[in-house]
Amino acid sequence: MSLIGKKMVHFYYKNGSNSQKNKLKINPINLLFKLTLMLVLAGCGGGSSEGSSKGSITASEINILPTANAGNHQTVLANQEVILVGNGVDTDGEITSFRWEQISGETVNLKNSNSATASFAAPIVNEATPLLFMLTVTDDSDGSNTGLVTITILGGELDGETSTISGQVTFDSINHNPNQHGLDYENISIKPVRNVVVQVVDASDRSTIVATAKTTATGYYSFALQGSKEIFIRVRAELRNSSGSRYDISVVNNFEKYALYVLDAEDIFISPERAIQLNVHASSGWSGTKYNAERAAAPFAILDAIYDCVKLLESADSNVKLPKLKVNWCPENKASEEMKAEIGEIVTSHFSSTNDIYLLGNADVDTDEFDKSIIMHEFAHYVEASISRSDSIGGMHSVTEKLDMRVAFGEGFANAFACIASNNPEYRDSFGLEQSTGSYKNLDDNNFSSTGWYNEGSVGSILYDLFDTENEDNDSISLPFKNIYDVLSKDHVQNDGVNSIFSFLFYLKIRNPEISESISLLASAQDIEASNLDEFASFETNDGGGAHALPLYTDLKIDESPLIIGTSVEFGSTNKLSNYRYLILNITESGEYKITANAEKPENDPDFKIFLKGEVIKSAARPGSKEELSIQLNVGVYCLVLRNYIDVEDPGRAGVSSLFTIGVEKL
Ligand SMILES: [Zn+2]
Repeated sequence: MSLIGKKMVHFYYKNGSNSQKNKLKINPINLLFKLTLMLVLAGCGGGSSEGSSKGSITASEINILPTANAGNHQTVLANQEVILVGNGVDTDGEITSFRWEQISGETVNLKNSNSATASFAAPIVNEATPLLFMLTVTDDSDGSNTGLVTITILGGELDGETSTISGQVTFDSINHNPNQHGLDYENISIKPVRNVVVQVVDASDRSTIVATAKTTATGYYSFALQGSKEIFIRVRAELRNSSGSRYDISVVNNFEKYALYVLDAEDIFISPERAIQLNVHASSGWSGTKYNAERAAAPFAILDAIYDCVKLLESADSNVKLPKLKVNWCPENKASEEMKAEIGEIVTSHFSSTNDIYLLGNADVDTDEFDKSIIMHEFAHYVEASISRSDSIGGMHSVTEKLDMRVAFGEGFANAFACIASNNPEYRDSFGLEQSTGSYKNLDDNNFSSTGWYNEGSVGSILYDLFDTENEDNDSISLPFKNIYDVLSKDHVQNDGVNSIFSFLFYLKIRNPEISESISLLASAQDIEASNLDEFASFETNDGGGAHALPLYTDLKIDESPLIIGTSVEFGSTNKLSNYRYLILNITESGEYKITANAEKPENDPDFKIFLKGEVIKSAARPGSKEELSIQLNVGVYCLVLRNYIDVEDPGRAGVSSLFTIGVEKL
């Protein structure tokens, strides 16, 4: 079974030599969306009510559950006495008890929590802070029900000149159909827009920023404002944090000069002592058969998936620092041969090492804004490149192929990260007419057509199994993501060879000796040797059926007779198994060295690069069948990566092997 139809066969630009570098500096706000909004003055009633019936047997024993109303949402000031006014109704009896509980937010001292009306003193906070309370009412037959209410406490001091505006920002989240794996527009969840930047903008010039804040984890925002004026609320498609963890992630329109997406609410007049509640909603724009309105939900759906990834990273490192990231999405973004982002040609959804993610938005063909798996996969490439060291050379790939081990690791990690961040082994990609079909893979299935260190499916399933709490045959491990993160961020950046599943498992075992055997078992289920694992995986015996796959690394000894090394395109070209070979050059004495590589046949063209802990020190890439390089090398362990130029530059080349002699002498 193939993992993920076409989306896993995607491109990943390593060097950013693509046309989107030609970007404009101006980044005007793109007033793309107008939206429907609800203006609710002083309250929108009590929260949800969910039954907790205990199952009735006969009609005569049915107790009609009571209803609970936790009162109006409120925006209050610090130190203010806040009164929670609840009530309950029981149509077939009477309410016998009330219970108020605080569900989230800074803990307060609730008074009279066992009566309909409770109260507390609002704590002093620096910024708008929501507190969530639940009221439980119980009737005389022991049936109960609950209601919720949010109280938002404003930061700072207020006086008679002050007004408040607060509310919740939400978006349409389109769920996947579990059978066809496409988008199911009948199944939309209204979700909070979490942790994004919200501004109050002066309506008279439509540009002066009056105040800036962020929505909370439940989508609430809140401002205290001075004076009387016309303003509007603007929600920016931006996640930012500048203390503790640091990140700056925005969704831009590459078709409109990379302008930021913003969602503007209607103008509203503020005046002293007025308390306005204004909810803002980003709609999908779906009419039933097509998108016939602005797809305002899309940028916020993308950020919602990314926010889960950010929280996963924070769980491993509360001070994680991420470089600025732009996510380029628009309805014009379609698959193409070449990269021309300005006109919406983006090859396919991918990460570029310029710290840009590009996502498809082409309705009825392929859209990815609601494909959480794809968004998180691309974000994972950015994570590996940022907090770790990505040695992947990118290129087209799929789960059925035998890949270069650097590519297999990069893609396997990205699949696993998507499933870990969503805490769900199901990986879905929707496409087609009305986005109604899709591809699906469960990373917990663990059967791939060609298991091994060169297979991204094997890599992904190992990494996911290390994390998941669902244990099965050969998987008894449930590690926090931090254990995976530490190997990536501390060991992979220092690794002398190239980063692969071997280096990952090698360092993971060092850091987690108590589960070393379980790790080996997990690897061995994917035909990877880890019970006997050294830094350069010299005990691996799975050659994938290739003539030039093993050993993974060959020692290049100084002043000894040249080695014979083979490359091949048995499994395809550009980035497949055996297209590249790895040699280790251990320099114990600084000095000038000469490295030579000669092709056995004159039509072949050896090239090599010398790396020191992942950094390219020098490339030798002249045309012709001989390559020679003199270089000053200091003491260190160098990794030399050899390829046949014609193997990797010709995607159609297949089946043949090439031999090279390679040697090094001290001058
Ligand atoms: Zn990828």
